[in-house]
Amino acid sequence: MRERIKRGLESFQRHTYKEFETLYQELETQQHPHTLFIGCSDSRVSPERLLNAAPGDIFVLRNIANSVPSIHADVYDTTTLSGIEYAVLVLNVKTIIVCGHSNCGGCAAALSGKQGLSELHYTQHYLQPLEGLCEEVEACAADEPYKEKAKLMEELNVLEQLKHLKEYDFINERIADGRLELEGWRYDIGSGKVERYDNTDEQFQPIIASEKNRKVQ
Ligand SMILES: [Zn+2]
Repeated sequence: MRERIKRGLESFQRHTYKEFETLYQELETQQHPHTLFIGCSDSRVSPERLLNAAPGDIFVLRNIANSVPSIHADVYDTTTLSGIEYAVLVLNVKTIIVCGHSNCGGCAAALSGKQGLSELHYTQHYLQPLEGLCEEVEACAADEPYKEKAKLMEELNVLEQLKHLKEYDFINERIADGRLELEGWRYDIGSGKVERYDNTDEQFQPIIASEKNRKVQ
């Protein structure tokens, strides 16, 4: 085992576990997470750190480019769907966050087309549903620099996954009666800031006001 992994485990047992020891013991036979976090597998996206969450707070699903399969997909990704189903129907989460992020490799790969993915058979297949979004990006931001296109792609991808979630009756019923809310986020890794999609303004906006703005308020 790599020394670094062992050191991490030691630190968890000596410090983190000790800090939450009572909570861990309470959680041994139960969990009541309030949120389902659907994020990218990217190593820089760490949901518990991002939300400063305690053990048991959030149920996490991660895959390349924080995807949710459409109900109309030819092949169901039951790994993701069963996780969503369990979190909503059994754990009764109150919120589902779909969180994209800056410099997402999955979105970038989809945006660059099939180049570079020729040897990644499964990835190529997996990213196919994003092709429509790439066309949308090209149509809306053809003259923009690549960085802007990538950002737009990451945002559209989050909105697309929210749309997919709403295709399922068990989710829609809970949104309709107020038991569940959906959130679309984009996490900027370099700055640590998060923007959420505002349905009224139809754009992503910072969740936490910057220090500068806070002083003005
Ligand atoms: Zn990613």
